[in-house]
Amino acid sequence: VAQTPVRVRFAPSPTGHLHVGNARTALFNWLFARQQGGVMALRIEDTDVDRSEARFEDQLIADLKWLGLDWDEGPDVGGPYGPYRQSDRLDIYREHAEKLLSERKAYLCFCTEEELQKDRERATAEHRQPIYSGKCRAIDPAEAQRRRAADEPCAIRLRIPEHPIRFHDIVRGNVEFSNEVVSDPIILRSSGMPVYNYVVVIDDALMKITHVIRGDDHLSNTPKQVAVYEALGWPVPEFAHLSTILGADRERLSKRHGATSIANFRDMGVLPEALVNYLALLGWAPTGGTREIFSMPELVKEFSLQRVTPSPAVFDIEKLYWLNRHYIKVSSPERIEKLAQPYFLQLLGEIFPSDENKKTAASSDVPDSGKWLARVVQLLAPSVDRIDQLPAKASLIFNYDAQGALAASDNAEVLAWPNTDAVLARFTYKILEDESAREGKLTPEQFKKIVNEVKAETGAKGKELFHPIRLVVTGSHSGPEFDKLIPILEEGSRLPLPKPVLNVHQRVSQFAKARGK
Ligand code: GLU
Repeated sequence: VAQTPVRVRFAPSPTGHLHVGNARTALFNWLFARQQGGVMALRIEDTDVDRSEARFEDQLIADLKWLGLDWDEGPDVGGPYGPYRQSDRLDIYREHAEKLLSERKAYLCFCTEEELQKDRERATAEHRQPIYSGKCRAIDPAEAQRRRAADEPCAIRLRIPEHPIRFHDIVRGNVEFSNEVVSDPIILRSSGMPVYNYVVVIDDALMKITHVIRGDDHLSNTPKQVAVYEALGWPVPEFAHLSTILGADRERLSKRHGATSIANFRDMGVLPEALVNYLALLGWAPTGGTREIFSMPELVKEFSLQRVTPSPAVFDIEKLYWLNRHYIKVSSPERIEKLAQPYFLQLLGEIFPSDENKKTAASSDVPDSGKWLARVVQLLAPSVDRIDQLPAKASLIFNYDAQGALAASDNAEVLAWPNTDAVLARFTYKILEDESAREGKLTPEQFKKIVNEVKAETGAKGKELFHPIRLVVTGSHSGPEFDKLIPILEEGSRLPLPKPVLNVHQRVSQFAKARGK
C-alpha cells in the first residue's frame, strides 16, 4: 500500500515578529517534512484584519529564510492548493459554511451579543461552564432562512456532536474532550467573517495536510476543529502539540524575559545555525540523549516527532550562547569578520569599508582597513558569546586608558610586585628609545628582543615580567598574544579612525606620564 506523502504547514499570523516559540514550530515542521521527503507549506493566517500587517508577513518570511528554512508551497512561491493567504480565501470559507448549513450540520444563530453576555454571566453565577446554551439549535431551518432573508443579523454555528471528541496526538497520545465543555462554535460571524477554528480546518483539509504540528496553546482549540472535520466528513489529520516554552523563572516565555524574537537574536550576533540547533533541543532530544551539537543535515537525519516531550521546555539563554560560541569558533574568519563589520561602524567611522580608503591604502602607508579589522576580529572572536560583544572586547585596542589601568583594583597586585618598578622602568626606556617603535612600526620580533633584554637586566621572568608589560601595552594584565596584537596596534595607529588607535610607543609614554615616573 502506498503511503500518503507527508504534508505539513507552518501557519503564522502576521501580527508581530517571529518569536522563539513559533520559530521552533516552523523548525519542527520543516525537519519532519524534510526527513520524510514530504511537503512543507507556509500559510499566512491574516483573518484578524485589525492586527495583521503586510510588513510582518515580509519580516516573517525573512526571518524564516535567515534560519535556513524553506517551503515548497506558500504565498511567495505558489503551489497547487493556493491561495496561501487566508484573506484571499474568504469565498472558500463561506461556501463550506453554507454547505454545512444546508446539511443541518450547522445552524443559524440570531442571538445578540448582549443576550450571549447575559447567558455567560448567568452560567458563571450558577457555577456552570459559560458555554453557548444551544438556544438557536431549535429554530426550524425554514423559519431561520426566512429571518435571514429579512436581513436579521445572524451567525452560523456548528452543531457539536453529542459524544466526547477524541483525537490522537503524537506528543500526548489519545486526547479526549467531553462535549459538555465545547460549545457549538460560531464558524461564520454575522459580519460574514469566518472564525479562526473553522478556517484552519478548511485550509488544512483542502491543502491535504497530514500532520498538524503546532504549539500546545492550540490544544484546547483542537476539539472544535475535530468537530469541523467530522461535520464535513473529512479525515482528521495527526496532531503534534509542542510543549510550552518557559523562561528561567518557569513562567511562560514572553517579552518580559528579554530577547525572544528571532530578529533580536540576529541583531545580537547569534548565528542562525546556533539558534536552529538550540531551538531543536527545546522539547526534543536525540536517542541516547546527551549529544547537543547538531548541524541542520544532522537534525534532519536524527529528528523524530516520537521523541518530542510533552513537558515544558525551559529557555536557557546561556546554553544558546554556549552553542553560539561553538559556531563562531568553527566559522570561517571571513564570515565572522563580515558579520562583525556593522558592530564596528561606530568605532571605525566612515573609513570602513569604503572604496576610497582602499585606494588610499593601495597608494600609501595606510593599511587596508578591511584586512586590519579581519585580524582584530580573529584575535577576539574566540572570547565572545555573540558577535555584538566584539567592540567591547576590542576596547584594549580602541580605548587605551593609562589612568584607568593604574587605578583599576584588578591591577593593584601586579603594580605592587617587587620587580614591577624595575620592569616598567627598563621596558619604558627601551620602547621610548626604539627607532621603529617611535615610527609606529615596532615588529613582534623587535618587541620580543626588548622583552628579553628587560628580562636579562631585571631578572624578572614569567608573569613577573609579562604582566607588567601587558599592563602597559593593553591596560590589563591578561589578554591576547603579543605576536598578533603588536602589528594590530602599530598598523591600526596609521588608520584614519574617528578616534585613533594608539601604537605601542604612544601607550608606553602615556603610561609613564600617568604614573609620573
Ligand atoms: N495562526 C496560528 C498561530 O500563529 C497557528 C494555528 C495553527 O498552527 O493551527 O498561532
